[in-house]
Amino acid sequence: MSIRPALLSLFLLAVAVFAVRELTPPAPAAPGGRGTSSLASSAPPAAGRPGVQAVTASGVPCTLTELGEESIHTGDLVLVNNWTLYHFPEEQPLESIYEGKTSSYYVRDREVYLAPHALEALNALMDAFQAQGGSKTVNVVAGYRTEAFQRHLFDQSAARSGQAHAEKFVAQPGGSEHHTGLVVDFSILHADGTSEEYRGQGEYAWLNENCHRYGWTVRYGAEKEALTGIADEPWHFRYTGVPHATAMAVEGLCLEEYTAYLKNYPFDGPHLLVECADGKYEIWYCPGTAAYLPDSGGYTVSGNNVDGLIVTCKTE
Ligand SMILES: [Zn+2]
Repeated sequence: MSIRPALLSLFLLAVAVFAVRELTPPAPAAPGGRGTSSLASSAPPAAGRPGVQAVTASGVPCTLTELGEESIHTGDLVLVNNWTLYHFPEEQPLESIYEGKTSSYYVRDREVYLAPHALEALNALMDAFQAQGGSKTVNVVAGYRTEAFQRHLFDQSAARSGQAHAEKFVAQPGGSEHHTGLVVDFSILHADGTSEEYRGQGEYAWLNENCHRYGWTVRYGAEKEALTGIADEPWHFRYTGVPHATAMAVEGLCLEEYTAYLKNYPFDGPHLLVECADGKYEIWYCPGTAAYLPDSGGYTVSGNNVDGLIVTCKTE
């Protein structure tokens, strides 16, 4: 059911032009609309009950499937911030970056963890960085964090620099994206052993500008601080998957905006189409805990951590 292995195998191929487009003229509330509609929308399916079959706008047969309350809080698109706390699952699949990484970057020590599929995407990003001439100086200094460790970081920052500083730069316990296992922080480690803050400038600008092609998003930009609640952090990368990271990059949306934007694309309306180097993706939103899932597989589903599910289906 996962589309990621296919994606990752294509990461090293030449990159095509990325574009986001929509099936039909966007819903009025859609920000940054740059739709160049070239496909027609089929008749919308009737709203249904779990088990009811329908077809997507481009004709993919789907069945409405109840996925349970936990599904809203699980997946690559979960929104986590100081107002939307992470729901810690009973079991969280994690892998030591040290154990699973390629040789194109460093990691602080053996105790930095990521979700296995995010680690695979990190390897693809860093291998591509090196292949286009990047130096081996990126050091992953943070990955998954427990709630207790985030509390420690917040209290430490508040004690050292004051409560206001901590609130501006450090997420609340439970409010850190690092809890998801889908996030890394970079630093720079020079050959002489000295280190430096990662700013995403110079040769590293390539990473910040191209990370969406590998499923990563620079999560905190200065211009989005009012929405994210976190100041500019060019070193903090969040994995959301290639089509979503691409859509956010093209439309200039942070994850707070993007999860709201996706509600313009319910199953029974026009869907969001995202064209990536490896193919086209069709994306729709289902409120609640039941989602229209393609009968043929080839999709991923993620909660938004608030009130619904996003289905992503590769169509070509
Ligand atoms: Zn971070």
